[in-house]
This record gives sequence, structure tokens and C-alpha cells, in this order.
Amino acid sequence: MSEKTIFKKIIDKEIPADVVYEDDRCLAFRDIAPQAPTHIVVIPKKELRSTNDITEEDASLIGHLFCVMNELARKEGIADAGYRIVTNCGPDACQTVPHLHYHLIGGRKFGWPPG
Ligand code: AMP
Repeated sequence: MSEKTIFKKIIDKEIPADVVYEDDRCLAFRDIAPQAPTHIVVIPKKELRSTNDITEEDASLIGHLFCVMNELARKEGIADAGYRIVTNCGPDACQTVPHLHYHLIGGRKFGWPPG
């Protein structure tokens, strides 16, 4: 059994987080190192390591995460101005926590292409 990730520890309430939303399938909390005025990390409670682990059986779960992010963007007041949803998958994309997560970031203007 591999060691628990930091996000699994947050799900299991072993370490604290600034939780902004929780239900039986997912958890959303403020990033500890925010890259924008709004920076929320949204994770499934199911332990998927990255996008690479997603299968058809997770289609409803992933759709649910996007509905939650849609609602969070509205609550944060960034829905109309715009925001970015980012998921880093693997070392080339700088993924540091091996538990699937989406960064919901907004509240400032972003550049494109991303670095
Ligand atoms: P990534 O680099 O895509 O794997 O993103 C991991 C994110 O998790 C980074 O933005 C970190 O700042 C964030 N993070 C790591 N530990 C915590 C924590 N204990 N609470 C909140 N966010 C965290």
C-alpha cells in the first residue's frame, strides 16, 4: 500500500485545509500557495492519481467536479470576468501531488500560452 498523499490526508481530516465545499464525492479547498486572488483546488474523494487514471466509469464524477467548479466560480464572483481550470498531469506538467485535482484560478488576467 503506497503512502497517503497530502490530499488524501485532507480528505481524511488528518491535516487541516480551508475547505470551501464538500460532498460525498468531492472536496474543494483554498490552495496553500495561491497563484491568483481565487485559487481553489477541487479533488475527487476517489483516489485517482491523475487524468491518466480516469476511465468511462468516472464520467459522472468528473462531470460533477465541473458542475461544482462552475458553482464555486459564481460564488467567488469570477464567473463573468473569466477564470481558468487547470489540471497538471505528470512531471512535464509539474504535477506535484499524485491525486487528481483541478485548480480553479481567477480574479486576475492570465497570459496565453501558459508557461
Ligand atoms: P500540482 O502542482 O498541480 O500537483 O498542484 C498541487 C497544489 O497543491 C499546489 O498548488 C500546492 O500549492 C497545493 N497544496 C499542496 N499542499 C497543500 C495543502 N496542504 N493545502 C492546500 N493546498 C496545498
